[in-house]
Amino acid sequence: MASPDSKPGAEPANTGEEPTLMKILSSPSFSDLKVHISPTKQTFNLHREILSSTSTFFKDFSLATKSAGIAEIHLPHLSTTAFSQITKWQYDGGITFTFDEKSVEIFKTIEFLRIPSLRREFWKQLKSFCRGMCTLNATSRAVFLGTFNMLCKYFKPDDLEDVICCMVDVITHFVVVEDLFLEAMEKGKVCNLFVVGVLGARRRVGHWGVCGGCFSDVKGEGKVRVKKEVKVERG
Ligand SMILES: [Zn+2]
Repeated sequence: MASPDSKPGAEPANTGEEPTLMKILSSPSFSDLKVHISPTKQTFNLHREILSSTSTFFKDFSLATKSAGIAEIHLPHLSTTAFSQITKWQYDGGITFTFDEKSVEIFKTIEFLRIPSLRREFWKQLKSFCRGMCTLNATSRAVFLGTFNMLCKYFKPDDLEDVICCMVDVITHFVVVEDLFLEAMEKGKVCNLFVVGVLGARRRVGHWGVCGGCFSDVKGEGKVRVKKEVKVERG
């Protein structure tokens, strides 16, 4: 099983010296755009040219304000942590998503800033993470399931194929207790796209399909699935 962290090309080529664009990011000199993030107005001194090269939001904003010398914008609803991580990627091209709760804020920010290339990278890493489900312990799997459900709120119907692709890896690592699942759905805790993903994935792997590496499948009378010890644990 591929390591969920193996992402060839995702890391910037860093041979010790700070890349030029990172030096520019950490220096306010020549900045032509002040971006204030969150209600507390955390200020980032940035460069329209660099932000606009990947973000349609900033491209539109820059075109609309190009006659102004130094432009400013306040985006109170964005999180400083998520914005900071995305901005760093815009300057040096490196990003590693963790797929915990923070990744929901990051994905929302990618959508708001309209960055298609980073959106594709997010999905690439998410699918890779799901392929590594075997290496997660039960708690990490449950935490990820909650995150994935939250992310489904922000995915688009066009993402369904990718959702199903991830869901195949997810559902084959869970024993779904139908009553609890229905109860959660009735309480509105399960996102529609998540449910459609479960159904699509089940159709693909069959009703009783589970990961052969993590479960021993005892079919027959009661169709009980017995969970084997999960050997590899990851924090
Ligand atoms: Zn497995």
